[in-house]
Amino acid sequence: MKILVIGNGPAGFTLAKELSKDFDVTIIEKENSLYYNKPMLSHYIAGFVGEMALFRYSHEWYDKYGIELNLGVEAERIDETRKKLVTTNGEFEYDALVLATGARAREPEVEGKEHLMTLRTFEDAKRIKESLESEDEPVIIGGGFIGLELASNLAKAGFKPRVVHRRATFLGLDEELSGILKEKLENAGVSFLLNANLMKADEKGILTDKGYIKSKTKICAIGIVPNKEIAEKSGIKTNRGVLIDERFQTSAGDVYAIGDCAEYEGIICGTAKTSMEHARTLANILRGKEALYDFNFRSIVFKFGDLPITIIGRVKNESRWVDENIKVFLENNMVVGAVVLEDLKEAMRLEKLIKNGLS
Ligand code: FAD
Repeated sequence: MKILVIGNGPAGFTLAKELSKDFDVTIIEKENSLYYNKPMLSHYIAGFVGEMALFRYSHEWYDKYGIELNLGVEAERIDETRKKLVTTNGEFEYDALVLATGARAREPEVEGKEHLMTLRTFEDAKRIKESLESEDEPVIIGGGFIGLELASNLAKAGFKPRVVHRRATFLGLDEELSGILKEKLENAGVSFLLNANLMKADEKGILTDKGYIKSKTKICAIGIVPNKEIAEKSGIKTNRGVLIDERFQTSAGDVYAIGDCAEYEGIICGTAKTSMEHARTLANILRGKEALYDFNFRSIVFKFGDLPITIIGRVKNESRWVDENIKVFLENNMVVGAVVLEDLKEAMRLEKLIKNGLS
């Protein structure tokens, strides 16, 4: 069976690796670079790791796994009837096709947006790193996990990053946890302007509704836009992302979608961890095994400078601290979520317990 995977990010790469033993796997990737670790990009920008640490898989690795890798080739349209993918480098046949096209950084719709940078690819990271050679006080617009990761790593590296965030809370956490996170990051050297909206940008800085901030390096991290254009052009149903059912099947026969481009009942995963979980589950489905993915249960791990934080399951409503670093969330006397500061081992243990039902 011929499996064609579009995208060589965490979702596509993991799927190809999983399936390479059983099937004939081909990857189509529009970037001209091998697989790299996106969660490490801010560590690279801060100077903690070099390029080599991001790119850990060589062409030889793909050859060894028997994966045909086509770099610099853009997928354009799926011809469902002929079971062919049309690309900038000719047509590719498939028995099953998987869209793992990910997402791109959302751009703000403000005057002067050309003065703002975004962070999604290695090329973006190189551009930001270069700009920081002549800037000590970068501004980061957006207090999501990418903005906070970047800010905390830059603070650790001795910069004075300022985060402009439109809310007073972060990452869907409650006020108490957001306050703790903010305090820890402030102590590490990040400063915040909260409840502030970006109005415009120019070469020298940004204007917010709370005043003007001077900085040559301005990075916008305000979310992602799923890459759904191929699906749209091919008559596959989309909403914010490519619509899938609980088996990652799109509205076209033998066409699946995983990772950041896929949308299941309004949910877009948005993390490498989840994208890889999608890939492993779909690999089992394609191998003919009974496999189900629980789209409603998510757990995410971030490392903000020296602070690891894990967010597990649903973290709203009734809550209780079980020790100074673990806050659990309850619904009908069942633990349905937790936030764990620092202790990654405990976080993994708790994730399993909550998934299996913990009262
Ligand atoms: P992507 O990684 O976006 O890969 C999709 C690939 O498809 C791309 O290589 C793209 O070039 C290719 N593609 C798109 N369209 C086409 C086309 N038409 N033809 C051919 N190829 C195409 N997640 C975490 O879990 N933890 C973290 O700490 C974390 N930190 C992050 C820090 C940064 C700076 C960034 C940018 C992301 C971070 N993430 C983190 C998020 C994580 O990287 C993404 O959720 C993950 O990369 C999604 O994987 P994906 O394979 O679905 O998509």
